[in-house]
Amino acid sequence: MENKIIKEMRKIKSITNKTGSPLVNMGPIRLRQPLPSHTVEKVDPFILLHHYGPYAISEFNNPFDLGPHPHRGFEPITLLYKGEQLHRDSLGNEMLVKAGDVQWTTAGRGIIHAEGPSKEFVQNGGELEGIQLWLNLPAEKKMMQANYQHLKSEDIPVIENQDKSIKLKIVAGNIQGVKGLIITQTPVNVFNVYAKESGTMNIDIPENHQSLFYLLDGEVLVNNESLLKKGAAQMLTFSEEGDFISIESKIKSTMLILSGEPINEPIAQYGPYVMNTQTEIMEALRDFQQGKMGYLY
Ligand code: MN
Repeated sequence: MENKIIKEMRKIKSITNKTGSPLVNMGPIRLRQPLPSHTVEKVDPFILLHHYGPYAISEFNNPFDLGPHPHRGFEPITLLYKGEQLHRDSLGNEMLVKAGDVQWTTAGRGIIHAEGPSKEFVQNGGELEGIQLWLNLPAEKKMMQANYQHLKSEDIPVIENQDKSIKLKIVAGNIQGVKGLIITQTPVNVFNVYAKESGTMNIDIPENHQSLFYLLDGEVLVNNESLLKKGAAQMLTFSEEGDFISIESKIKSTMLILSGEPINEPIAQYGPYVMNTQTEIMEALRDFQQGKMGYLY
């Protein structure tokens, strides 16, 4: 009886914003950037969301090779959906990232990394698709030791809806008592969701988390009110109030659901650095020049 009462008290999160995922040019790379956007309020603690591909990569078409570059003050995360990338960093890591894998870098006081499609993948050719996510760190953790976590697709815990038409992979955080393996610095949920046609699921997102739903592919009705389609509206944000959202896939679909406790601190961002003040940005520029973020050749 008591359980029933608790269930009835659950409240759906309301949709606060619906937006497309506009294409932007980053040098030779054309990708989708739903966040930051002038049409979306910030989704604290998430700073940036880039959706790249699917691209047809070959020896004749490989613009997506990022050479060594630094980061400080946040966590750059890559979720790879298609293809294969090679990751290298100044901590000495060299990892092949395969479709479904996740790399979670805690830049902390500084790291230098490089990534791009692996040589073998470029030679064989194929599609590359991924998400690059920037997750902020609170002031007290911006200068922590850098760290790199690699999560293989097959090791990611999965929950399913009742008829098994939807798989939710827990990259980080927890849902229905199942915990992700990534060590996070603040309470954060990162869920990769794969749906067949006509699947429905309620997805728990804690009250007081800021949250967003991003559609990579397919067509999904959210909260029984908002239809998202690739190439049209692809992202929703939600109220902190409420403790779940509902999804209904109209066709085979791929989604990313993010939530986290807001950090609520001032942000000073310049290039690859996300700090609290302009002085800290100047220090980051100087420390990189002095080699204090490490070396990668
Ligand atoms: Mn980077």
